[in-house]
Amino acid sequence: MTARALPAENITLDSLPVTALKRVGPRVAELLAKLGIHTVQDVLFHLPLRYQDRTRVAPIGALRVGDEVSLITEVQLSEIKLGRRRQLLVRVADGSGSMLLRFFHFSAQQQSAFARGARVRCFGEVRSGPGMLEMVHPEYRIIKDAVVRDAPEVDEFLTPVYPATEGVQQNTLRALTQQALDLMREGVLRDELPPQIMAQLRLPSLTEALAYVHRPPPDAPLRMLLEGNHPAQQRLAFEELLAHHLSLRLLRNKTARQCAPQLHVPGVLMQRFLDALPFTLTGAQQRVLGEIIHDLRRDHPMQRLVQGDVGSGKTVVAACAVLHTVEAGFQAAVMAPTELLAEQHLQNFTAWLTPLGIEVAWLSGKLTGKAWQGVVERLASGQATVVVGTHALFQEGVTFANLGLIVVDEQHRFGVHQRLALREKGSQQGRYPHQLIMTATPIPRTLAMTAYADLDSSVIDELPPGRTPVDTVVVADTRRADVVERVRNACRVGRQAYWVCTLIEESDAQGRDSVAGERSEGFRMPEATEMLQCQTATDTALHLTEALPELRVGLIHGRLKSLEKQQIMATFKAGALDLLVATTVIEVGVDVPNASLMIIENAERLGMAQLHQLRGRVGRGTQSSSCVLMYHAPLSADGRARLAALRETNDGFEIARRDLALRGPGEVLGTRQSGMLQLHIADLVRDQALIPKIEQAAVLLLERYPERVPALIKRWLGEAARYGEV
Ligand code: ADP
Ligand code: MG
Repeated sequence: MTARALPAENITLDSLPVTALKRVGPRVAELLAKLGIHTVQDVLFHLPLRYQDRTRVAPIGALRVGDEVSLITEVQLSEIKLGRRRQLLVRVADGSGSMLLRFFHFSAQQQSAFARGARVRCFGEVRSGPGMLEMVHPEYRIIKDAVVRDAPEVDEFLTPVYPATEGVQQNTLRALTQQALDLMREGVLRDELPPQIMAQLRLPSLTEALAYVHRPPPDAPLRMLLEGNHPAQQRLAFEELLAHHLSLRLLRNKTARQCAPQLHVPGVLMQRFLDALPFTLTGAQQRVLGEIIHDLRRDHPMQRLVQGDVGSGKTVVAACAVLHTVEAGFQAAVMAPTELLAEQHLQNFTAWLTPLGIEVAWLSGKLTGKAWQGVVERLASGQATVVVGTHALFQEGVTFANLGLIVVDEQHRFGVHQRLALREKGSQQGRYPHQLIMTATPIPRTLAMTAYADLDSSVIDELPPGRTPVDTVVVADTRRADVVERVRNACRVGRQAYWVCTLIEESDAQGRDSVAGERSEGFRMPEATEMLQCQTATDTALHLTEALPELRVGLIHGRLKSLEKQQIMATFKAGALDLLVATTVIEVGVDVPNASLMIIENAERLGMAQLHQLRGRVGRGTQSSSCVLMYHAPLSADGRARLAALRETNDGFEIARRDLALRGPGEVLGTRQSGMLQLHIADLVRDQALIPKIEQAAVLLLERYPERVPALIKRWLGEAARYGEV
């Protein structure tokens, strides 16, 4: 199919609406918009997910389960099988072997077409059947012409399979890309990468790369293509990562020009706080605090990410920044992604700030009526200077009198958009609040440069003194009795232990590793799930109380009132409980140095970051600590790798790196749902080697070819490019 002629001279594909293509009327255009396709250029950048090979005909004798192949066969037998489901079974052969075609939906006409001796061309996935290999509902065509059998007509290219949406078939997408490729060959798609970069990369040009990935030749290395390692794909991946990186750099430049309250105070409050602490800051904490204070004194908004392993003492550093802000007469807001984490911060900040005469306000979605209204009014009037809370802090209707600092804990669950929305929310008369972002999930470099390049970064790379590495073991839950003994022995000599019960979700019933806890963290856990989790913990506590009658066993879970939770934690901390049975509630901020044993049940259900966080609750005292990861067999390969990684290392950075390799960035960032980093072709793990070149290319483009940058960003980020606008 050929495309319509270009409507005018000098028009480029990025300004040509998709309706300029044949077959695209208003209705199809609307459907395409759902795929993010608005222009002809967008069609070209809608890249195949995978490929099918219809360029050759495979012999049945050589087939393996899972192959997707074209066959040319002869019908030997066709019959209707009656039973629970009526089906048409067609046995076909090609001289090298025979197999079955199975149809559940078929017409009488179809049935009669499969007469004995008829020649059938079909394409589908090979499965193992009861007696022989089979295809279920293959695409097929009855061959009428006898000649074809000897010189079968095959496709000229590998068949691309595109991301589709309801109402837009693969055939439509193939027809559209064909037209777009034809137009592209007329030279109307600009290659934005300058020659210097191209020479260094030694990768194909943009048009070559696009032509190749949309229509790979029959001899294309299919495996390489499926893995995304082909030079044509690498060229596109490079450009895509570059586009993301550039958009964040622009954003950073934009922020650097904005105004912020200049917090120029001596830091008296902060000093009084530090003097009252029972410890001194580690070197790493002091360094990072120095960087933060330096930022706060400038009249541009701070955008700083503080990474630090579990227990490295980020909260204390954040408290210093809050005090610095308050001393300068501005408000500070501390936001956490979950109610529980926020409550923990509330406790800490209240304990630290009240002695200094600073009241800490609390705002969560659970507050209602008068209580809510009261806090909202005090924030709007400026009466409340420090507030801790959840996302509720930035809801409609909440305003600040003079917000100077936003602290966001556990940043990896927020995307660039949310970061920006927060800043906008706190802005006043063209002045933006400073932003301090804290994460305990270290962000690998590849991710940092594509997802966080708009932020300055500090790392607290030292743990407070006296922490001991945790010895981790992985055991099957068939050895539960041994684990119970272990708890008994530890508590007998005066140690304390945690027993963590993980939730069991319905979707887990099939034994899939859906990393349940991880997923539910950033969102409100569904009521039923939460109840189930608490039930499990309650049952476990009962059993353990029976099995360990000499121990004092406590129970803590999310359904308890805040006050009850606090009381139980205080009792445990005071040593009046030996064993604390808990849901993943204790993941956050719990600090009991004498607790040196942690048991995690169904550890295979949790993500690596969460397990690492949980484990961080022990190893806070001087005695040696251990963590028992109990799993329920069978373990998937992934589950095995996750637990092994936890056993092998205590280093949060290493764990994050392996997590990224196992699960991919969407999951690690917790942004699959929020769609923060949607990459078309690049893969942050696979394409790590491109990173240094991308940084160089970004600098070169911004310095020498700034006019090319917006086009490059728009091409890859589309609508999402808005935030990079200058
Ligand atoms: P993070 O949030 O980074 O996981 P926290 O800020 O919760 O860590 O600190 C963990 C524990 O270590 C807290 O009890 C905190 O009071 C304590 N702590 C923080 N800094 C130090 C330090 N320099 N020396 C000793 N203990 C510290
Ligand atoms: Mg913390």
